[in-house]
Amino acid sequence: MYRFGETGRCWRLVVIGGGSAAAIQVRQGDVPPQDTLVIADRLGTGMEFLDNSILQSYADELRLSRHQETFRLGATGQLRPSAAQFDAYVRESLLGSGATLKSARVLEVEGEAGNFLLHVLNGDGRMSYERAEAVVLATGSTPRTPPPGWAEAGAVSHDVVHRERARQQTSRWAGRTVLVVGSGNSAMQVASLVASEAAEVVVLGNRYVGMFPTESPDKYSWRAPSQLACELVAKSAQECGRPGWHTTCVRHLVYDRLGVRDGEITWTYKAGDNQNPLGSRSLSGRCRHARGRLIGEGGSAWEESRRIEETAVVWATGSGPVLPGGPLIELLARDADGSLLTDEAGRTSMDGIHALGACAGQRAVNETTPALVRGRLPLPELLAGRGVPVDSEVSA
Ligand SMILES: Cc1cc2nc3c(=O)[nH]c(=O)nc-3n(C[C@H](O)[C@H](O)[C@H](O)COP(=O)(O)OP(=O)(O)OC[C@H]3O[C@@H](n4cnc5c(N)ncnc54)[C@H](O)[C@@H]3O)c2cc1C
Repeated sequence: MYRFGETGRCWRLVVIGGGSAAAIQVRQGDVPPQDTLVIADRLGTGMEFLDNSILQSYADELRLSRHQETFRLGATGQLRPSAAQFDAYVRESLLGSGATLKSARVLEVEGEAGNFLLHVLNGDGRMSYERAEAVVLATGSTPRTPPPGWAEAGAVSHDVVHRERARQQTSRWAGRTVLVVGSGNSAMQVASLVASEAAEVVVLGNRYVGMFPTESPDKYSWRAPSQLACELVAKSAQECGRPGWHTTCVRHLVYDRLGVRDGEITWTYKAGDNQNPLGSRSLSGRCRHARGRLIGEGGSAWEESRRIEETAVVWATGSGPVLPGGPLIELLARDADGSLLTDEAGRTSMDGIHALGACAGQRAVNETTPALVRGRLPLPELLAGRGVPVDSEVSA
């Protein structure tokens, strides 16, 4: 058992993570950078897998500091940076912040005597330990992996497609039917990413999200890069199979049931669930790819199947939080989606442990606000009042 006395300095603050949330905490938080240790297994955004893809946010929405910065985010006249440009910006921001940076992975956070002991796995495989008065979790999120039953179909999460694309590896989807499971921007963007090599692309969503702002006022609905997938659905609906048309057939369906069995992937869908601009152009009968078997009554529900060996399945159903291990972290109150429950000061249900960014359910960089660490205020009523187990065992 390791104890604080066996380690060196006790940091005023340790921030875990090396993405935009960590940079915002160091740059805008209330603990000076010189009193802060950042432990990250990588410096840069967790969106780095998007590589040269253009982000949805405008450069101004991605600022990490309130002060004038010398580093430019993208080229002059460029409205939105690529993920690779943003990655470099986050890294520069952390490197120039004045905080102490440690390249390592925190395996566990342990509480004792009002402080915290962090179990740290270093790049060389050696374990070391850091002490902190307060901890900020800025550990981000990771794309959800396909459910276990989908291993048989070789399903992968959407980041795998981006990574392979960046290495110019297209064999997973080239010449195949690509089924993209998901409703949001990740699904739409991966659909257009594979469209030039796939034999056909079908996006299978559980709802129709629509384009921002023409179809939905929600800023998290489909944004500009997703427009290309919308356009491909409409264009291929008119032209798939016609002489001279070589672009891949792309469809968008709100599905009813989706399953994999006996070497086949099968999905069902109803006309009633697809009364929208893309669904109405994707129903059975529209082209040679859309060959549904009529099921149910009234001729308005269909079933389609593809052989597994002719298909690539891509999961794009959102992200789940990434957190270090240990019983203390497991005790923290969570939201329904698994992200940490925090108040507006970034406090979790455990005194001295704070969280911000994607692991705390914040969906965008410009919604990420620094945790207020210095004042050890009473634990928020917000957390206690929601029947959440509030544990202040380690309070100073
Ligand atoms: C496809 C996609 C597109 C998106 N586009 C946008 C967009 O255009 N604009 C926008 O604002 N948001 C966008 N987002 C949301 C975006 O991911 C978040 O806003 C932002 O990246 C969250 O930053 P973060 O620092 O919380 O997490 P991340 O950027 O994921 O950083 C977390 C870091 O912590 C490290 N880490 C995790 N655990 C440990 C540990 N135990 N020890 C050490 N290090 C650890 C990780 O390796 C990672 O580097 C997008 C998300 C996705 C999936």
